[in-house]
Amino acid sequence: MNTEANQDWVARSLAAVWHPCTQMKHHERMPLVPIARGKGAWLYDPAGNRYLDAISSWWVNLFGHANPDINRALKDQLDTLEHAMLAGCTHASAVELAERLSALTQKTLGLAFFASDGASAVEIALKMSFHFWRNRGQSEKREFACLANSYHGETIGALGVTDVALFKDAYDPLTRHAHVVASPASAGVDAAIDAIRALLTERAAHLAAVIVEPLVQCAAGMAMYDASYLTRLRALCDEFGVHLIADEIAVGCGRTGTFFACEQAGVWPDFVCLSKGISGGYLPLSLVLTRDEIYAAFYDDDITRGFLHSHSYTGNPLACRAALATLDLFESANVLAENRRKSALLREALQPLAKHARTRSFRERGTIFAFDADTEDAAFSRRFFANALQRELLMRPIGKTVYMMPPYILSDDELALLAQRTLDTLDATLAESAA
Ligand SMILES: *Cc1c(COP(=O)(O)O)cnc(C)c1O
Repeated sequence: MNTEANQDWVARSLAAVWHPCTQMKHHERMPLVPIARGKGAWLYDPAGNRYLDAISSWWVNLFGHANPDINRALKDQLDTLEHAMLAGCTHASAVELAERLSALTQKTLGLAFFASDGASAVEIALKMSFHFWRNRGQSEKREFACLANSYHGETIGALGVTDVALFKDAYDPLTRHAHVVASPASAGVDAAIDAIRALLTERAAHLAAVIVEPLVQCAAGMAMYDASYLTRLRALCDEFGVHLIADEIAVGCGRTGTFFACEQAGVWPDFVCLSKGISGGYLPLSLVLTRDEIYAAFYDDDITRGFLHSHSYTGNPLACRAALATLDLFESANVLAENRRKSALLREALQPLAKHARTRSFRERGTIFAFDADTEDAAFSRRFFANALQRELLMRPIGKTVYMMPPYILSDDELALLAQRTLDTLDATLAESAA
């Protein structure tokens, strides 16, 4: 790993690039991995070492790196239209993508509003919900509720509905706080429903929306909960006249076993936020899907009753085309059924980890697998990361939670390799911690 070619990129990066979500000083001890190219599930460094991308490059990659189908679509789009503004203009890729996503909701969510990153999609949903109520003459509905340990992005508005201390505490003086209610992942479904019912009973007149991560609170450490919570939450939101926002940025696009995670609860929210996997992990793209009746409340001669939000790259044709190619792959390859087969294989291969004396709470949903390491070592995550790299795995535990969220294209051999080397990595890390 420590060849000259690698060291050069690492030194230059550390001198010029401020890396995301990183205490840069930690890179004195923690390796920075230079990536030269990708193919399928593998990333390669300049020296030719390879790493299995077991976390889909921060949960975005669905069909592998340098996917030939997505590449072909993008090359065609590049030669046709790289970008045009979406205010006053329109183009085929944005229209088709909006239509196809709407069709996936059986047209329940008939409109798509585009942005470029997940946090912006969350902010758009919050603003839209508030503005809807204001257009309806209920401008006092300006508060939001989120779940304990929720993660909805790191811009100032999104941090207001985020409850992960690491991301939130430093900037807390800048944020407008949402109501934080018990999460079904930690409190259980009944207690969590009681908590949100109590808040709605007291504050519904002031609440615009409740925002949730359906089924899995990923950033909280892959905290999973039952779909029945969403079914009951939907009913409560209807009863009290409050919007339901589903942040499917991490759990959408088939990750939990259905295209939208909410499908498992048999409900549709008022807003769905999508990003991450929607472009196949190729280009920054996010969008908010919403209902015709919400759109209708903005439709007016008065510009100030319109939705006032824009990004320069709204609906970028290349990003939309990557998303269309991604949807094509879902249709052509029977992805969800094949993922069920692969998840069963991986579950089987992970049994030694599920039964390991030093693991707790082995859990899975769709193609997300996680367990907690039973260790007191504060450096566990850093050590595990380094040990995984030595075994050709790219994995970043969240604290003591080790998780896998691989691209959907792993072969059966790659699944077996992932399971075996994760076990080896855990054992090596625990031994190192004890030394
Ligand atoms: C990643 C993520 C976001 C933020 O998306 P960015 O593109 O990183 O801004 C929001 N919500 C959830 C659930 C996420 O996983």
